[in-house]
Amino acid sequence: MTLYLTIATIALLGLWLAAERLRPAFSSGQGGGRIVRNVLLGVVGLGATFAIVTPVSLTAAQFGAPWRETWPMWVRVLTDLFILEFFIYWWHRANHEVPFLWRFHRVHHYDGFLDVTSALRFHPGEVILSALVRGVYVLLFDVSVPAILIFDAAVVIAAGFHHSNLRLGQKADDVLRKVVVSPDHHRIHHIPERRYTDSNYGTLTTFFDRFFGSYEEAPRKGAYGVEGAEDKPFTDLMTDPFRSPST
Ligand SMILES: [Zn+2]
Repeated sequence: MTLYLTIATIALLGLWLAAERLRPAFSSGQGGGRIVRNVLLGVVGLGATFAIVTPVSLTAAQFGAPWRETWPMWVRVLTDLFILEFFIYWWHRANHEVPFLWRFHRVHHYDGFLDVTSALRFHPGEVILSALVRGVYVLLFDVSVPAILIFDAAVVIAAGFHHSNLRLGQKADDVLRKVVVSPDHHRIHHIPERRYTDSNYGTLTTFFDRFFGSYEEAPRKGAYGVEGAEDKPFTDLMTDPFRSPST
């Protein structure tokens, strides 16, 4: 199962990369340094994900309170996917609303442009904190191993898609965002105005944003980042959470 999920993830990320070149929504106007920053953060972040996030959750799943073990596996996996998306919604929201967590998460938001590489750039500190908190959550809710593997692959595929510079067209995007996180919907989350940055937290689905009142519609914009801040070189991004005040 892990092999098939890995192949599907790589194939779909390749598809998003090709699609955003064939049908770009905006032109970048950014230098190559941005891609280097994103790829370097991606290498560190993906390394930490495979080395820490998934293994911590899989270990926690072995020791979880077994209160759902008698459920049919398909019911369990479907419920688990819902439980994991609920977690990632609130974890992402906490990363915006808790100043200590925002210090790490803002590294992702400094990106002045959005494409598939934006989905890679997360500070390793955020990745590690996420691993630890999700491990406890998996223990408490008895989340199953297949669900963790499927969910983590789905998150990488979905993040690549909704950060991509793909132009879908208004109608297609409007239909899509009724259920899943579309590129236009997620671009709103990266507009450098706090009202928009603190909205649209969903990763796989827009359901929880509607339910918890964080769903935002806004005009399409091609400028992204953090209000009052600019992107920084890779080394400054790595030390950013520890040396500058929270914004
Ligand atoms: Zn965010």
